[in-house]
Amino acid sequence: MKHQTKSVSPAAALAVLRSSACPGLVRVVAARDGGVCRIRLPGGVLGAARARAVADAASTHANGVLELTNRANVQIRGVLAGEEAALSAALIGAGLGPAGIGVASPIERACAADELRNVMLSPLAGLDPHALCDTTVLAAALIDMMQREPRFAALSPKFALQLDGAERMAMLEHPHDIWLAALPHGATVRFAVGLAGCPTARPIGTLAADDVCASVQALLHAFLDLADADATRMRDVLATHSLGALLQRAQQHGDFTLMHDAAALHTWHRNSSPSDLRLGAHALHADGSGYVGAQPALGRIDAPTLRALAALAEDAGDATLRVTPWQGVLLPNVPARAMAAALERLRALGLVVSRADPLARLIACTGSTGCAKSRADTKADARRLAVLLPPAAEVHLTGCERSCAAAHCAPFTLLASAPDHYDLYQRDDTPSGSGQRFGQLVARNLTIEAAALAIAQRSRSTQDV
Ligand code: SF4
Repeated sequence: MKHQTKSVSPAAALAVLRSSACPGLVRVVAARDGGVCRIRLPGGVLGAARARAVADAASTHANGVLELTNRANVQIRGVLAGEEAALSAALIGAGLGPAGIGVASPIERACAADELRNVMLSPLAGLDPHALCDTTVLAAALIDMMQREPRFAALSPKFALQLDGAERMAMLEHPHDIWLAALPHGATVRFAVGLAGCPTARPIGTLAADDVCASVQALLHAFLDLADADATRMRDVLATHSLGALLQRAQQHGDFTLMHDAAALHTWHRNSSPSDLRLGAHALHADGSGYVGAQPALGRIDAPTLRALAALAEDAGDATLRVTPWQGVLLPNVPARAMAAALERLRALGLVVSRADPLARLIACTGSTGCAKSRADTKADARRLAVLLPPAAEVHLTGCERSCAAAHCAPFTLLASAPDHYDLYQRDDTPSGSGQRFGQLVARNLTIEAAALAIAQRSRSTQDV
């Protein structure tokens, strides 16, 4: 829980905030390879000038290694000891802090506001003509509402919302504490609302677009009213309180207008989001303009590559990048005539631009080079697996059970058991398999070569069914 303080020292400020191992702009968290600083990007949007500022900060105050995260953020790894405050100040000075927070603002305020920016949007928010609405404006209003209410500084830095405008590309597998998804309502749009899950699940009700902010505010108050000290996520509160009790409490906090629209709820269906839209060139408009998408191998880039991406966004697009929740990046608003050359420049930078590339289908956590908890060097092992990976197989390598690289259950998961050895899990897509962290355990203590063979065999038998 946050309290008012006059301190501007990062250490003192962080001491009065909720303790967390979650990195932030001010909360630089120690790791084996140095500090980790996470830069939250509303909607994943990063302008070219700010991208250069991030690259410069990573080169000056850290070892120049950057990661794109599965929440569409960027993090700087290897922050040098003693450079933490200078790094945060440089990033805030470049406009990467919460809105209204300047370099002269109390650091506690910057930290608390920074951690209230976890609103997931589609990478195509505001761009996709097939979407039901542009969610960017509503997302900004939600973030502003959360940052203005002092009580919400008590929310966990992991507490997250999703706002889905029915774009063709959306992360539909990451559970969010509160999700809102647009659905048509006559000539207007309402939002289906769900808790502790994804827009593919059954909603609890619907909201008019104009009522979203006030109703989410009431829900957040209700959550905090009912949350025990160790209940940080919506699923924790729903494990100890009924949904009815939560909604009843929300009614006591002002304008909570959730409607139990039986017909809309019964027919609710969120279309899937094809994975081939994430990479390559895609037209969005009749004139052939659109976006190009790419992915750095295993989510990592270096500072020069980020600078090159900024230059490419200026040359070929609208001078912005959009980080995706698949640890990739899009260049929006690329004219048809510039698509092919932009894609070629992305390829030349070493980025993955096609699903045919095995590295497009592999994710791995930081691993033992950067994380003391890891039982294996997952990044290096993923590169070894890439040359053995059967076509179409998707694999997540994780150094421990925390699964930092994936908030969803991948088709195959390799959980490190020891250096160079993994337990293999396969996702169970039957109803009884839902809720399993990694799926069913199918083999223990495999080398990477043995794991590749087992994945190939199981992929074949799945295709044969
Ligand atoms: S999943 Fe475990 S080993 Fe991998 S980065 Fe997270 S804490 Fe470290």
